[in-house]
Amino acid sequence: MKVSVLKESAPGERRVALVPEAIGKLRSAGLEVLVETRAGDGAWHSDSSYADAGASIGSRADALAADVVLLVGKPDSATVAALRPGQAIVGLLAPLTDPDLVDTLAKAGVTALSMDMIPRTLPRAQPMDALSSQANIAGYKAALLGASSFGRFFPLLITAAGTARPAKVLVLGTGVAGLQAIGTARRLGAVVSAYDVRPETRTEAESVGATFIELTSVGPASGEGGYARELTEDERLAQQQELSAHIARHDVVITTAQVPGRRPPVLVTEDALKAMTPGSVIVDMGASELGGNVTGSLPGESVVTENGVTIIGASGLPSSMAPAASAMYARNISSLLLYLIKDGQLALDPEDELQAGVIITRGGAVVHPALARTAAPSPAPPMPAESAPAESAPAESAPAESSPAQASPERPGEASPDQAEG
Ligand code: NAD
Repeated sequence: MKVSVLKESAPGERRVALVPEAIGKLRSAGLEVLVETRAGDGAWHSDSSYADAGASIGSRADALAADVVLLVGKPDSATVAALRPGQAIVGLLAPLTDPDLVDTLAKAGVTALSMDMIPRTLPRAQPMDALSSQANIAGYKAALLGASSFGRFFPLLITAAGTARPAKVLVLGTGVAGLQAIGTARRLGAVVSAYDVRPETRTEAESVGATFIELTSVGPASGEGGYARELTEDERLAQQQELSAHIARHDVVITTAQVPGRRPPVLVTEDALKAMTPGSVIVDMGASELGGNVTGSLPGESVVTENGVTIIGASGLPSSMAPAASAMYARNISSLLLYLIKDGQLALDPEDELQAGVIITRGGAVVHPALARTAAPSPAPPMPAESAPAESAPAESAPAESSPAQASPERPGEASPDQAEG
């Protein structure tokens, strides 16, 4: 069976799905690996380094002809149009926020596996957890961005020219990225506070050196699968108001709050921005085309408010550390592939909880239970990439207890008007 690595097509994306070090294990499992020419350029891996590792190098058309196509991000429309029934595609496909892509892949008869749907709490899924590997990188880089954009020191400095007090950093949202941001800011010498709606994150935040802030106006908001639930409008307003006073007391604020499949919650309002000191910096890791955690933030851009607060719309942070991010992602995607392969062929089993969490389309249908909309019926295509063409899983039969998707069973990407603030 042939597995290919496509060159990423999203603007600014420098990551690559496999690095040369990952090729050997896949070949040992009986797979042929083909890498699109120059696919590794952005992560500083040359075609010759892949060839030395045992991969063949080919054109995009060659790569698109493989049985299984590997990507980091979503395929562009030309790529989707080139896929054939029975072919498999694996990547961070963001199906909860892009139902049209899911429908298109289903109608094309493609077997799509989404790395961001892996049930992260299953112990055997840990090596495949690309959301965590990329969030770790993003959290680290967010703290560095905050430090480099802040016009003062992070650590306490006592010099002949005077004493600099340590920066006060606030991290909002203490999941994987937030914890890494706390640890990194602490290692740079800042005094760090943190807040999350899930009270169970307190001990984790404290263990990496933050002082945890508890809000009196909002109760616990833990959702399913370890994620936060969406707040009600009353809770959201109360949270924003109470947070404002804390935000005003900090020099650098790093926001990481996410609710799977929904718009990121707005935590820093216009009033909170106005109360901040000139020269303060906010790194909004929630910034995306869906909105952000900070009013007025724009993905990929820095804006300065009238009162001198710099808001960095920090999207694409893992791509800014493409070699590290690609190495981790390659381990994640290789682990998934090796898990799915029997005798050199893809052998899918929708009864397996991990696989049911990760397979989103198969046999011409949307099969993931969390993706409510089903593609228009089409005849089940042949499945040459799979050794045993098992029946496509009916949506209701595929359990994914700890999948992130279960936290958001409604139509993905559809934020209610009250969420549209960001
Ligand atoms: P995420 O990216 O979905 O969200 C980031 C953080 O934002 C979360 O901690 C969330 O509680 C917080 N948040 C959401 N809305 C908020 C609001 N209105 N105000 C403040 N904070 C808000 O989260 P993540 O980093 O992907 O992690 C989600 C969970 O998954 C965590 O519990 C993590 O420990 C867990 N996890 C478990 C495993 C495992 O079991 N092996 C692996 C990875 C992650």
